[in-house]
Amino acid sequence: MPRVDRGEGAWLQTEHGRLLDAISSWWVITHGHRHPRIIAAIKDQADRLDQVIFAGFTHQPAEDLARGLIDIAPKGLSHVFYSDSGSTSVEVALKMALGFWRNQNIPRNRIIALEHAYHGDTVGTMSAGARGVFNAAYEPLLFDVARLPFPRGPDTLAALEDMAKDAAALIVEPLILGAGGMKTYPAELLAKMKNICERHGTLFIADEVMTGFGRTGTLFACEQAGITPDILCLAKGLTGGALPLAATLCTPEIFQAHYSPDRSRTFFHSSSFTANPIACAAARANLEIWREEPVRDRVAGLCAMQAEGLARFQDDRRFESVRCLGTIAALDFKVSDPGYLAGRGPELTAFFHARGILLRPLGNTIYVMPPYCVTAAELDLVYDAIGAAASQFGG
Ligand SMILES: *Cc1c(COP(=O)(O)O)cnc(C)c1O
Repeated sequence: MPRVDRGEGAWLQTEHGRLLDAISSWWVITHGHRHPRIIAAIKDQADRLDQVIFAGFTHQPAEDLARGLIDIAPKGLSHVFYSDSGSTSVEVALKMALGFWRNQNIPRNRIIALEHAYHGDTVGTMSAGARGVFNAAYEPLLFDVARLPFPRGPDTLAALEDMAKDAAALIVEPLILGAGGMKTYPAELLAKMKNICERHGTLFIADEVMTGFGRTGTLFACEQAGITPDILCLAKGLTGGALPLAATLCTPEIFQAHYSPDRSRTFFHSSSFTANPIACAAARANLEIWREEPVRDRVAGLCAMQAEGLARFQDDRRFESVRCLGTIAALDFKVSDPGYLAGRGPELTAFFHARGILLRPLGNTIYVMPPYCVTAAELDLVYDAIGAAASQFGG
């Protein structure tokens, strides 16, 4: 296992040489490693206040960040709850949804989640996620959810229509299911699912932990469907990927349902490092970068480069489901035995490493999700390596 010593832009320096970080260090690094503004903000904040209890106290970076997030989030989200990972941002969302109904004495507590979903690795988020080899051992601890078929069309919508009647909330990864295999579905279906939830009063939770901060071509994936979720989960790219921080945004109605002199209605969730000042300062710098640098142009450029990079595989019979959503490109090795490449995943990963590329296929799905600073020449290296892998491993 190579030891990594430095990061710079799209590159990692290991003890054995350079690696192009084509998966953004597990989808977190957005602008590139060590963006100067984020690093400066971290250093500056570290010199002022490292950590403070966030119950009964507040601080400038957390307040600025909350305001900044409400400004850029889909209209209608008014409150921000901080935590420290994608999983906790989703746990918080699920707890908010349950509390919303319980505090009104309405017995709605079922969660609806998508087939192939991934929402994290805590017990609650595993429950909402697809069941499989990764969580089989913990199955006895997981709670039941209503499982909605992967959004394909009328069948999914009809099923949701039925499930939504008395459910507490639907949770979705908007437009693309990440860990489930970079499976995409159209914005139109997302908008229709939101509409059905609205008609039944079911809360709509958008888990934008992966899709947030530009990945799908827009700042948030929900924008492409023109929807505002009742609850929005953010993490990975929130600090540009430099530090762990998460935020769960919600509507005034959800806030109000928990805001009461009656202590039993409190939103009970706290953790030691809620709104850590250094992490908030890093995230505040990230929002400044989005405001002041041409990030949207970079993202648009990367979307075009990804589509172009994939084009050479469009008619390649060794691949199928060649797809691109914004800055995320993915393609599936065609194999007769689907377990074949999953078993050879480590070998495939090692093949890419040997060529100076950090890629980490999900089963037989190869995906490319680089930081936005990546150049066309660098992406060429990635697609050349995928072509070479096809020659070596393809059927
Ligand atoms: C990564 C991810 C999570 C979990 O985030 P962690 O920070 O790893 O806990 C949740 N939801 C989605 C959609 C993710 O991609």
